[in-house]
Amino acid sequence: MTIRAIAIAGALAGAALVATGALSADQAPQGGGPRQGGLMRRPGDGRTPEFPEPTITQYKPRTTLKTPQHPTPKAKFPVIDVHSHQPAPIGDAQFAQVVQGMDANNLRVLVNASGTQGDRLVQAVGALKASRFKDRMVQFTDLDFRNVGPGWAAKAVAQLEADKKAGALGIGEISKAFGLRYRKADGSRLKIDDPELDAVWDAAGRLGLPVLIHTAEPQEFFETIDVHNERWLELALYRDRRYPAGEFPRFEELIGERNRMFRKHPKTTFIAAHFAYHANDLARAGQLLDEMPHVHLEVGAILAELGRQPRAAREFFVKYQDRILFGKDSFQPDEFPYFWRVFETNDEYFDYYRDYHAFWKLYGMGLPDDVLKKLYYKNALRLIPGLPQSGWPQ
Ligand SMILES: [Zn+2]
Repeated sequence: MTIRAIAIAGALAGAALVATGALSADQAPQGGGPRQGGLMRRPGDGRTPEFPEPTITQYKPRTTLKTPQHPTPKAKFPVIDVHSHQPAPIGDAQFAQVVQGMDANNLRVLVNASGTQGDRLVQAVGALKASRFKDRMVQFTDLDFRNVGPGWAAKAVAQLEADKKAGALGIGEISKAFGLRYRKADGSRLKIDDPELDAVWDAAGRLGLPVLIHTAEPQEFFETIDVHNERWLELALYRDRRYPAGEFPRFEELIGERNRMFRKHPKTTFIAAHFAYHANDLARAGQLLDEMPHVHLEVGAILAELGRQPRAAREFFVKYQDRILFGKDSFQPDEFPYFWRVFETNDEYFDYYRDYHAFWKLYGMGLPDDVLKKLYYKNALRLIPGLPQSGWPQ
């Protein structure tokens, strides 16, 4: 057969399958070049498996690949986690347990980004200061976005001033609900760049309180949940992660609001949690950092994005080595080693810890030591001056 004859035969086979209903029109081989997913048409295309197909959760082939393995239970340098969630205040027994998990990983300090205000903040900071682990955790304050309207900002600024005096070292985590769910006193959606909030973001800059802010969610959470969605399993498992059009603002709308807000407050330090949700588009992340020197990125919950593009990610981390901080979000001592392994090794094709984040394997970025030190602690020490500053490697 000539190439043209093969192509026609393939197209005919595809058409037959559509006609018998074995494939939807959407899945059928399309005329011309590559199909969805980059597969080429070929003779015998459109076969159906002779065995019952495993489901998305069942198919877990063991790999036959043999490559050097360097599991990394402990970070090479001490680490500050700028995005942790701990009780505020934390009890002594629980703190001891957390410290055990920290020590196993070489985590030296956690930023408790379960921010809290007023009396509760005083208690939270008091519990840390009274503890035998007092150098191992610091506390952020938070903003109360209820009833934003006339008079709200003055109250919020006064609260920030009081909380700073009480020992808060920053603000956050500003919840993803800001933008997605919070309403104003008048019932309208509270937009991230609402001018009523301007005085508060400026005050954060004036008071030297960096802002850890989580905006939107992974892009796919806003898209149609079909066989092309990279986060299909996660969306099928978790109802509260779905943001259908009509009910919620769109991803781009939220990112636009956030960036306009960032732009208005160049003297305030912002740490965009979860890599600003641009870890799947590093060029875009780079544009954000290039345009706004006061914005920084944090790596929580996006490890699978970095680990599937280790060469581009390495280049990015080297180029923007002063702008990226370590943060994990959920505190699970046995999950941190996946981060150390991706950042520190050149390992190939190893497992990630959550199948609903990523159905692919991870690869190591092999970051140089001076970049690792900035990512792990030096950038945090610079941006959050109240952190314990002594005892770190040079
Ligand atoms: Zn968080």
